[in-house]
Amino acid sequence: MNKADSDRLAGQLEALGLAAAPSADAADLVVINSCSVRQSAEQRVLGKLGYLKGLRKRKPELRVALTGCMVPPDDAELRQRLPFVDYFLPPLQWDALLLAARESLGLPAAPASLACRAGEYETPLPAGRDGVSRYVPIIYGCDNFCTYCIVPFRRGPERSRAVDEVVAEVEAQVGQGAREVTLLGQNVDSYGHDLPEKCDLAALLRQVSAVEGLWRLRFLTSHPKDMNERLVEAVAGLPKVCEHINLPIQAGDDRLLKAMHRSYTTAQYLDLIGRIRARVPGVALSTDLIVGFPGESAEEFQRSYDLLEQVRFDVVHAAMYSPRPGTVAARLTDDVPAETKRERLDRVEHLQEAISLAKHRELVGGETTVLVVGCARGKWEGRTRTDKLVFFTDPGDWRGRLARVTLTRASAWSVQGELLGEAAPPA
Ligand code: SF4
Repeated sequence: MNKADSDRLAGQLEALGLAAAPSADAADLVVINSCSVRQSAEQRVLGKLGYLKGLRKRKPELRVALTGCMVPPDDAELRQRLPFVDYFLPPLQWDALLLAARESLGLPAAPASLACRAGEYETPLPAGRDGVSRYVPIIYGCDNFCTYCIVPFRRGPERSRAVDEVVAEVEAQVGQGAREVTLLGQNVDSYGHDLPEKCDLAALLRQVSAVEGLWRLRFLTSHPKDMNERLVEAVAGLPKVCEHINLPIQAGDDRLLKAMHRSYTTAQYLDLIGRIRARVPGVALSTDLIVGFPGESAEEFQRSYDLLEQVRFDVVHAAMYSPRPGTVAARLTDDVPAETKRERLDRVEHLQEAISLAKHRELVGGETTVLVVGCARGKWEGRTRTDKLVFFTDPGDWRGRLARVTLTRASAWSVQGELLGEAAPPA
């Protein structure tokens, strides 16, 4: 979501005539889009701000803006702590910065098309971006209030974008060269419940699928309690929708799931996984997991570990719990020692590395089609429909094309391939 927000703000600044600087040292304005999902993310932002504080002493004309989830609606405390920051902008609320940029450039007041209305995206789209794979937010905010999570406090209640607006944006992105779009939301499965004409994600996927020139469609992030049969059927039945679902489990123990306010049990989660796998053969599943939630016993952690072994996800995003001030869980005693959290995280990471490697090895010798999204260290970099990272070499220009490759070598993180030729785009 932050990546999508950053692209959008960059697009709005570019539309005013600003251009990206090669480094903070060369910039007139630095905007930091912050994440506060974990303490470590905040630490990184504070480290960057520390550098900018020093830079501002050498270069007083530099302007610094802080946006994203670290900025609460009441920013008085932040202003005191970070007096060298000029703008504090809650997520998506960039009006003050855009207005100041216009003034400093001597531009007239914002035309309606440039306004950032009530914290939601408006046109223009990021100008001149050449990304093959893009993010399109479809729902903002979150109503779930998982007890460890700060997002609902910073991004507010769920607000769905109108179907026509989403379709128009996807068409525009495809017009600019996008071939793959990921529909984004903190809880993408609850899309549409708040629209005047009821709609859901399955219906939206159908509409977006009809956009000509779009080859692949994904969605992120799902919530197990909101993923219904209609959505599973849409993934199974719509050819452009990729066989890849991120379904955060967060814990493999029912007491912990309840304490996290996740609204499902491990049995319900496993039943859902079974139904998805039965209906979408070959589907890739990824998940998110927290280790060291307050009170997590060795047995409870072991149940999470066993669940990972049982399900054999393609990817696991695991993180150590850290209290986020203002959340319900922050009132609990953070009683799992740091070294225990670290040990549990290491065990999860080692397990998943072995599972990912085994899954990638199973692919070796087979053929697949990848959408080439870029070039890294002299190799073309593409993704399969199941979101596997594949590299191959070729002197041609493959960016934005579909390449057929035979898979030759696997690691836990990616697969190497050899080019066979170009694949025809879907009709
Ligand atoms: S679903 Fe839970 S974890 Fe995800 S953004 Fe909402 S509150 Fe946070």
